[in-house]
Amino acid sequence: MRVLVVEDERRLAGIVKRGLLEEGYSVDAAYDGEEAQYMAESVPYDLMILDVMLPRKDGIAVCRELRAKDMNVPILMLTARDSVEDRVKGLDSGADDYLVKPFAFSELLARVRALLRREALPRTPKLRVGDLVMDTQTREVWRGQRKIELTTKEHSILEYFMRHPNVVITRTMIEENAWDYEFDAMSNIIDVYIRRLRSKIDEEGKESLIQTVRGAGYRLKAS
Ligand code: CA
Repeated sequence: MRVLVVEDERRLAGIVKRGLLEEGYSVDAAYDGEEAQYMAESVPYDLMILDVMLPRKDGIAVCRELRAKDMNVPILMLTARDSVEDRVKGLDSGADDYLVKPFAFSELLARVRALLRREALPRTPKLRVGDLVMDTQTREVWRGQRKIELTTKEHSILEYFMRHPNVVITRTMIEENAWDYEFDAMSNIIDVYIRRLRSKIDEEGKESLIQTVRGAGYRLKAS
């Protein structure tokens, strides 16, 4: 599980980061709103801990812009004041939960676990990106009315893309998240799988859903 901690108070950011690392999470830190937004759009985080008061761009604006781009990463917002107005503003901007500073680290951990649990059990087992639909329970995949047959490996790669639409996914991320065995990192096996996936999910004469991002990797285009 990869978590992004966004807090300009370096001491607090350090404490939260170290605490989460000790719990086994992978943790990155950002110290202003623009850096946070850039990182959230570049890396498929499983959770974001986002302070409201930040230099360059506040947490509310970051959250609102990420949601406007259909980024569904769970967001736990931190604020210094416990006013109803602040809480409403945070939740209205698209945050999933709210924690008032100062907080006990154990409470932060409990909220993090709850959000990740919620994410792991989606209310609907269906993932949708445009007219591409994946039923994560029956493992069926459809493009519009057309049913698509995928191998287990193709399925796990496509599921990873569909859980992170519009995010640039590197070959290393595919390796780490959709592969369960070691393979020669120099081989072009991931590109081979991407080519096979494209031939199965794309519609003739239409732009490919999985775009190549030169020098970086791939991206599943959401709209
Ligand atoms: Ca702050």
